[in-house]
Amino acid sequence: MLTTLRRIVLALTKEPELDLALQHMVTQVKEAMATECCSVYFADYEQEHFLLMASDGLAKAAHGQVAIGFSEGLVGLVGQREEPINIANAQQHPRFKHSPEVKEDDFNAFLGTPIIHQRKVLGIISVQQKQARQFTENEEAFLVTLAAQMAMAIADAEAKGIINRKTSQQHWQKLQGIPASPGLAIGHFYVSYPQAQLSSVSLIKSSSFHKQSKLFQQAVSKTIRDLGQMSQRMQGVIPEDALDIFDMYKHMLESASLGDEIIEKIRLGWNAESALKIVIEQYVMQFEAVDDPYIRERATDIKDLANRVLFNLQETKVKTTDFPEDMVLIAQDVTAALLAEYQHKGIKAIVSLSGSTNSHAVILARALGIPAIMGVGSIPLASFNNKQVIIDGYSGEIFLSPDQNLLKEYQHLVVEEQELHNIVKEVIDLPSITRDGKSVELLLNAGLGVEFDHSMKNGAVGIGLYRTEIPFMDRNCFPSEQEQFSWYRKVLQSFPRQPVVMRTLDVGGDKALPYFPITEDNPFLGWRGIRITLDHPEIFLVQVRAMLKANIGFGNLEILLPMISGVTEVDDAIRLINQAYFEVSSESTEPVSKPKIGIMLEVPAVIFQLKELSQRVDFFSVGSNDLTQYLLAVDRNNTRVAALYDAYHPAVLRALNFIAEHAQQHLIELSLCGELAGEPGGALLLLAMGYDKLSMNSHNIARIKWVLRHIDYTQTQQILRHCLMLTTAKQVHNYINEQLELLGLGGFVRAGK
Ligand code: PEP
Ligand code: MG
Repeated sequence: MLTTLRRIVLALTKEPELDLALQHMVTQVKEAMATECCSVYFADYEQEHFLLMASDGLAKAAHGQVAIGFSEGLVGLVGQREEPINIANAQQHPRFKHSPEVKEDDFNAFLGTPIIHQRKVLGIISVQQKQARQFTENEEAFLVTLAAQMAMAIADAEAKGIINRKTSQQHWQKLQGIPASPGLAIGHFYVSYPQAQLSSVSLIKSSSFHKQSKLFQQAVSKTIRDLGQMSQRMQGVIPEDALDIFDMYKHMLESASLGDEIIEKIRLGWNAESALKIVIEQYVMQFEAVDDPYIRERATDIKDLANRVLFNLQETKVKTTDFPEDMVLIAQDVTAALLAEYQHKGIKAIVSLSGSTNSHAVILARALGIPAIMGVGSIPLASFNNKQVIIDGYSGEIFLSPDQNLLKEYQHLVVEEQELHNIVKEVIDLPSITRDGKSVELLLNAGLGVEFDHSMKNGAVGIGLYRTEIPFMDRNCFPSEQEQFSWYRKVLQSFPRQPVVMRTLDVGGDKALPYFPITEDNPFLGWRGIRITLDHPEIFLVQVRAMLKANIGFGNLEILLPMISGVTEVDDAIRLINQAYFEVSSESTEPVSKPKIGIMLEVPAVIFQLKELSQRVDFFSVGSNDLTQYLLAVDRNNTRVAALYDAYHPAVLRALNFIAEHAQQHLIELSLCGELAGEPGGALLLLAMGYDKLSMNSHNIARIKWVLRHIDYTQTQQILRHCLMLTTAKQVHNYINEQLELLGLGGFVRAGK
């Protein structure tokens, strides 16, 4: 049965025309269940009815014509109850609706089950039979399982249909994603395709032997150079014997036989990529067939090597591609590394087919002040290429190929946004203080680029979070101590008399380094942040030494440790920091100052160890992004559970309040550097809770300052008191948005002024 089910669902997903796919499917289901009729209905929420889409058993003329109201007939009943209904004699059921057009008078037995995707009934699938009998439990289980799997395929197909649908009345198409970074943008899509793997290369013939063989030789030479550079940079970072891998790779590439075989395939008429694929896959097959595990493992090396050559082959093509001036970047999975790679090309907005609201890519997008929409669904990327688009980062709406009216409407909103932006800028140099005199320090979240642009300060009084991992990403090996020293020096220099909090490397989770791959089933619960750097003191010490050296003459460095879950990690990290401090002091002729040390509060376990932790460090900085993720057990990157990820969830707000109360009790400085600090609602709640410092991206500093300067502290306390009594995140959002509108600050949480 399982095989039949897989076959049916696979056929459904492979057929590009949904109508044909459904028609094919109902026949397969009818045969598999040895019944006499199978039909599929789709819900139309505007018309409030189910439309018969396909059937094998009901009259052909009724397909696409007959509709059953949401509260009519047995089909309507399945939709209302949201559960399967199994009836031996349907004609006698009080809800049976006689529709002569479908010609179902002969059928008695009826089994219908809803097709539900993300809690929404998309349609109904039913089977019918002449013999009046109850369908068996097995038959029911089969149909329910099929419907659950169909739901995903139909949701995807519907999204694809939206892209391809063109009607005479509607000139543009709308897609809905998850709003992730606010703002509006009008531009043209630029698709970033995933870096190709050899397995995804399609075999293509080419008649230009000379061109293709030259391309191949160039890619090989480039790969050999890359490997040489990588090996050099890794010296001293990884053990000597591990460096042998680079030599082995180089050796394989330089060996005449491999290259000759590929050239031979090109001579036979294949293009360079195809020739590479054909030869390498033969080798891989031979290696994988060997019993010896060591030899088998070499298959992985060959594949890796071939992918590097492929990358260089494809790079030549990528370079010739023009970026639209008003580029809206779209990819299957926009990661922080991808954004770091494209950020200099003037991106107007980002759209990711997968992902969710608080991935690091989104955090970067907010820091750049560009709208982002995530989790749009499985739509072929190529269908977006070069299309004009409007992005509404407040609502998550994407308007493809907009008509003049829609464009005008959004152009107007974009102007209003710009006006608000300009007004807000007026407060940049004013203190961040409420109308009744309560002040809070606003600091900057930095680390986006190596170069620090002074215009990014926007009135911040220091750096509250410098994410050091970002500059580690867009490169192909770990940076040296000297390289890191020069980055950190520039950052410390940008706020010479104000605190600069540098967080030690926080890789893992969704922040992968291309040259330090980690494969885990549960990366956010795995090897991440301090767990990695304590296991690799050589990486940690180099980083801390670079920070301490960069701090000489400034003395404004503070070190922040990410992903702390207990006191042992803090003790171990402090021991290493002390070691680095003594080393640097003994090497330096100038005095080296001891930085303050703080920890991120982002793993819920620390909430119950605040006393012990406060005795060890100088400050706490709450990472509300991860705290929300770990407290609610919701992956911050997962589209399916995106609606559950909410920093305004009462549990998160109460945890934040608890932390603030206890930090005051233990007399330890408290700041918050998660995204919540940069949101108007979040900032006013945190101010009321007693947070001393709020750290946010450059773009938000002026906005939050404006909000704080237009509100009373006593009002924020009332709002907080009320929010802490609410029971759902939705209630909190509604209440806060209502309060912001009342205060004339609604333009900060929706499009327009
Ligand atoms: C956080 O978790 O809130 C935080 C600031 O760190 P990151 O988003 O880099 O994990
Ligand atoms: Mg974090």
